[in-house]
Amino acid sequence: MNILLTNDDGYGAPGLEALAAALREEGHHTFVVAPERERSAMGHAITLHKPLHVIQHHEQAWAVSGTPVDCVKLAMHALVPCKVDLVVSGINRGANLGTDVYYSGTVSAAIEGLLQGVSAMAFSLVAEEQFEYEDAAWLAAWLVGAASRHDMGPRTLLNVNVPSLPRHQWRGVRVCELGVRHYQDVYDRRLDPRGRIYYWLGGAVAAADNPPGSDVEMVARGFVSVTPLRVDLTRPEDLERIAGWGLTLPSQVPGATHRAGES
Ligand code: MN
Repeated sequence: MNILLTNDDGYGAPGLEALAAALREEGHHTFVVAPERERSAMGHAITLHKPLHVIQHHEQAWAVSGTPVDCVKLAMHALVPCKVDLVVSGINRGANLGTDVYYSGTVSAAIEGLLQGVSAMAFSLVAEEQFEYEDAAWLAAWLVGAASRHDMGPRTLLNVNVPSLPRHQWRGVRVCELGVRHYQDVYDRRLDPRGRIYYWLGGAVAAADNPPGSDVEMVARGFVSVTPLRVDLTRPEDLERIAGWGLTLPSQVPGATHRAGES
């Protein structure tokens, strides 16, 4: 398979290196296009108002002065010389569980794969201090192999979190739904050298009610979590209810170009 590998921890990050090695060992053509420096928690940001500089490190590896999503877009439209079969993102340094996926550059890069019509996987290692990527890289390559045998389809994104345990201590793999991750959102209020107030976001993960089947719970219990995600945020069950508000524009709308009754 032709794999586009990226991350949000930056080019040369150990999680990316371990994953590139594992994928190449399985015989996949692995093209690395990654941010030149850490761009974690960038979500789906893209760069519009400044140039994207690229350094080609070798035939199949580039570092880009943009976000993870920039990397995927640039890779697929300018850098990678062949059709990409799968976008792989990670292995991230830290969890991307539950609601983390909305902030995660790792997961957003994989989502961009979907938006480009290519299926994708995001891998994260759920650890806080010690990061040993070898076992997670082995698992990632194994899952990529499983996906290629089962035909993922063009609109599938798997978000995978690996517990920080040696692989012989993993309790198994669970296909499960996203849970919830709340943070304490502590804004440290400080003074800069010029006497101006600034804030710095910190705070640990706070307790949250998670259903027993969620990814948060599964990883806490020692399982590898695999969560299929989709991009469409529409709540179909609300379409009719909100339409029931009868949102017809009133006849006197200040500055309206619509005619009354048009919606
Ligand atoms: Mn990261």
